[in-house]
Amino acid sequence: MKKNKEKIAIIGGGISGIATSVYLIEKGYKVDIYESKKNLGGRAGSINKDEKSIDIGQHVFLPSYKNFIEILEKLSSTKYLSIGKKLKIVIQENSKKYHLKSNVSIYPLNLIFSVLNYKNLKFYERLKIIFALYKLSKLDNHKSKISLESWLKKNNQNNEMIKKFWEIICIPAFNSKLNKIPINHAVNLFKTMIFNYKKNIGICFFKKPFSEILSENYRNYIKKNNSNLFLGEKIVNIHYSKKKYLLEGKNQNLKYDKVILATNISNAINLGGLNSKKIKLSTDGIINIYFWFDKKVIDEDFISFSNSKLEWIFSDNKFRSKNKEFRIVISLSAVGNLIKLSNEKLISDYEKTLRKELNISQKTKTIKSLLIRSPKATQTQTGYKDLNQKNKKMYYVGDWTIKDLPNTMETAVLSSKKLVEKYFK
Ligand SMILES: Cc1cc2nc3c(=O)[nH]c(=O)nc-3n(C[C@H](O)[C@H](O)[C@H](O)COP(=O)(O)OP(=O)(O)OC[C@H]3O[C@@H](n4cnc5c(N)ncnc54)[C@H](O)[C@@H]3O)c2cc1C
Repeated sequence: MKKNKEKIAIIGGGISGIATSVYLIEKGYKVDIYESKKNLGGRAGSINKDEKSIDIGQHVFLPSYKNFIEILEKLSSTKYLSIGKKLKIVIQENSKKYHLKSNVSIYPLNLIFSVLNYKNLKFYERLKIIFALYKLSKLDNHKSKISLESWLKKNNQNNEMIKKFWEIICIPAFNSKLNKIPINHAVNLFKTMIFNYKKNIGICFFKKPFSEILSENYRNYIKKNNSNLFLGEKIVNIHYSKKKYLLEGKNQNLKYDKVILATNISNAINLGGLNSKKIKLSTDGIINIYFWFDKKVIDEDFISFSNSKLEWIFSDNKFRSKNKEFRIVISLSAVGNLIKLSNEKLISDYEKTLRKELNISQKTKTIKSLLIRSPKATQTQTGYKDLNQKNKKMYYVGDWTIKDLPNTMETAVLSSKKLVEKYFK
């Protein structure tokens, strides 16, 4: 069968579904892509509030997210990315600002100088962090079951170093507390994102809501390549008969030779016939609290906090401040039971802390606030070793399908790349 005669459906218009479609199209396939929501981007996507688009949560990435950035390049969408060229993180503790930054752009000197400049820790503590980073870069013990926290303690990292450095970097990167991060995940992430990249890194983020970044360009890309995008089309069932998959949707009922499930785990179980008893699922939540003020409250694009419940805050002063509204988002990772508290309580508690930490005067008014919960922001499964098998014509992609890396936008794209390279000639 010729490639373009083989009918392929992708279910899910998140990053992995989009990346899969791009890789397949490049190999000469035509695809139909189904997304249950009205917009693209999945967990990295946006919602509409008061006729404005707002990201479900603040997303950050590094220049080492090579595959993710490459997909956006192919969709002509990189002009909406703010790419950090130098490491520069402001860390605030008890109203005092410290810097994790380096003016040197050569790896690994950039990392070494950043840590040496971080005066929130004693000098010998900074040296010990550099040594631990070096050891991590040399570690290749994928079978070890210990947690990152245990490994750090074994490697002379005291509580101060863990709180003021490792937690600030690792909790949001993994959306997990350090005692729950397997050391092999930590090694893999640090290697993929920093050690193997061997170049300068800085924090990157989107200049406008991610669903907007994607929408026009992706629609055009799909159209230009004789493929189809069905938005607002939830697939509720998949039937297999006479070597074809019949996808049952709200409006469409079409037959396909191959189906790629680019959904979250639970929908992959429901639609794709994975054995739910075999899967051990673990999830953790993220909460984002947006505040709009009538005055600018920080100059930086982002600040992280040590010894405060604020964790990380981001402003959009540079890109989105219109109508004299200045937006701050508080991004809380690995939230555990915090997710159970009411919106009112969370908003009021965090507004008080934000005002105190940033010393915001009473004259500065809060125009509005919005809390967005993502209870299953990250999802990992143990049970299935190889989800995708030869001779099968239903496949799985998504951040959760790569077991030894945390859920990130780069992991989502990597899963698509691996699938297409292995199973589609
Ligand atoms: C609040 C938050 C903050 C985050 N921050 C970061 C960050 O800073 N950096 C980072 O790298 N990563 C971050 N992540 C993780 C990142 O967003 C994910 O790893 C990535 O977006 C996953 O993409 P995916 O395509 O694998 O899955 P998803 O985004 O979950 O995509 C699955 C898609 O399938 C659709 N779907 C499901 N079932 C059906 C059906 N039956 N029919 C049709 N469509 C269906 C869903 O609507 C969804 O659009 C964050 C996640 C959240 C929630």
